[in-house]
Amino acid sequence: MDRIGDVLGALPADLYTTDPAVTARYLTDFRRFRTGASRAVLRPRSTAEVQRIVALCAAHGVALVPQGGNTSYCAAATPSAKGDELVLSLERLNAVRGLDAANLSLTAEAGCVLSVLQEAADAEGLMLPLDLGSRQSCQIGGNLSTNAGGISVLKHGMARDLVLGLEAVLPDGQVLDVLQPLRKNNTGYDVKQVLLGAEGTLGVITAVSLKLARKPAQTVTAFLAVDDISTLTAILARAQQLTGENITSFEYISHHSLALLLAAQPALRHPLAAPAEHYVLLEAQTCSPVLALEEAVAQLLEALMGEGLVTDGTLAAGAQQRERLWHLREHIPEAEVANGGSVKHDISVPTSVLPAFIAGAAALVTAHGAGGRLSIYGHVGDGNVHFNVVAPVGVEPAGYKVWLEAEVSPRLYDLAVGMGGSFGAEYGIGVVKLDLLDRYGDPAKRHMMRALKAALDPANIMNPGKVVRA
Ligand SMILES: Cc1cc2nc3c(=O)[nH]c(=O)nc-3n(C[C@H](O)[C@H](O)[C@H](O)COP(=O)(O)OP(=O)(O)OC[C@H]3O[C@@H](n4cnc5c(N)ncnc54)[C@H](O)[C@@H]3O)c2cc1C
Repeated sequence: MDRIGDVLGALPADLYTTDPAVTARYLTDFRRFRTGASRAVLRPRSTAEVQRIVALCAAHGVALVPQGGNTSYCAAATPSAKGDELVLSLERLNAVRGLDAANLSLTAEAGCVLSVLQEAADAEGLMLPLDLGSRQSCQIGGNLSTNAGGISVLKHGMARDLVLGLEAVLPDGQVLDVLQPLRKNNTGYDVKQVLLGAEGTLGVITAVSLKLARKPAQTVTAFLAVDDISTLTAILARAQQLTGENITSFEYISHHSLALLLAAQPALRHPLAAPAEHYVLLEAQTCSPVLALEEAVAQLLEALMGEGLVTDGTLAAGAQQRERLWHLREHIPEAEVANGGSVKHDISVPTSVLPAFIAGAAALVTAHGAGGRLSIYGHVGDGNVHFNVVAPVGVEPAGYKVWLEAEVSPRLYDLAVGMGGSFGAEYGIGVVKLDLLDRYGDPAKRHMMRALKAALDPANIMNPGKVVRA
């Protein structure tokens, strides 16, 4: 019996490719955790084609792995190595179906690249307030399936918070059509929420209606030096108050991460005259052309420096300087890769205890990490820190990372969970965090997840082995 052959045989030849030279790029995840196998990559161009594929796979018991831009940080879009699953790429399902400027909404298909949607909104004088470093490759379907966070969460929320409506193909081939761009729609369970953050395990998202915002008329970006990490929470509170809750990003960069980056990319310059232990990249935005935002941020800087909370700071003078400051924040992962990569801990804790977490976790790595180099940065305004560890200079990174994950990472997760936090802030579970979910996940929550999976996908054909154990 050749069930995959039967599925492929029933589909038009232009709906999939079996050419190994083409399929190879769909089979390894971005961080190279896993390389899978798939006889074909299916590439539908419409919801009807997705429906046909899912219905055929359901009938023949063939598993599907939905894939967007393949930028997952936890190998969530990679098929198993057995070759018993088919990759379903959404890349050709990429039309913008409509933009309603008066309703501040955009309806687009799942395979639209995030930056393309940002540009579509921009062309209408609006903004799609979802932004992350992978914007040029990740797709909106992937963003919603991972409930992506990123650099605008503080003001606009996670990907989930931007969703007004959704269209999806369920594992039995039914099309769920709750795509209306409505802000109020209390008509029973809000079923679309179940698919958001489900990492492709409960259905294939085919289209979405998203909230837009008015384009900022003013953007003020500042880079601050901070000596005492325990003051970060107070700095954020002051910034929110003085700017009238208009802080869009409050990003942390440790001196470790900045040093790693400046060494890896020697053309870059330190933005401040004197180095410090901690840095904050702060951005405030407003769509109002009349609010005195720049003056508010300048006053903030003056007050923080006057009180000794901030030791130095600079305001970006123009778009080019802003870009240079953001480059420092967004290229840290590349510097880690240039040093053999890092063990990433994507932690969230209540913002009030984040400085204590960073200090405590750094002490743990110093005491137990056998000389591992810290790289700590992230969206601290959201209580989310990427607490990463790079192998010591001269130590073979692959072996060190395996050792650190076994010996030190559990201590960091225990610390975060003990402080009321989470072992997985924004990257999801995929396959690489299943053990952590077993260890730290609430038992009743895990029971509900299994019950939902069994109810919607009893044959387990949607991304099996991810998020919920088979
Ligand atoms: C440089 C860089 C920076 C990043 N920064 C951030 C960040 O700041 N915040 C953050 O949250 N993440 C970040 N990420 C991680 C990643 O970009 C996000 O998780 C992103 O949302 C994944 O989108 P994707 O289209 O690449 O999805 P993929 O990697 O292709 O898939 C991710 C998951 O979604 C499922 N999926 C994809 N499309 C669909 C669909 N249409 N229907 C159903 N399931 C689907 C897949 O099966 C898989 O489980 C970053 C990654 C990189 C490389």
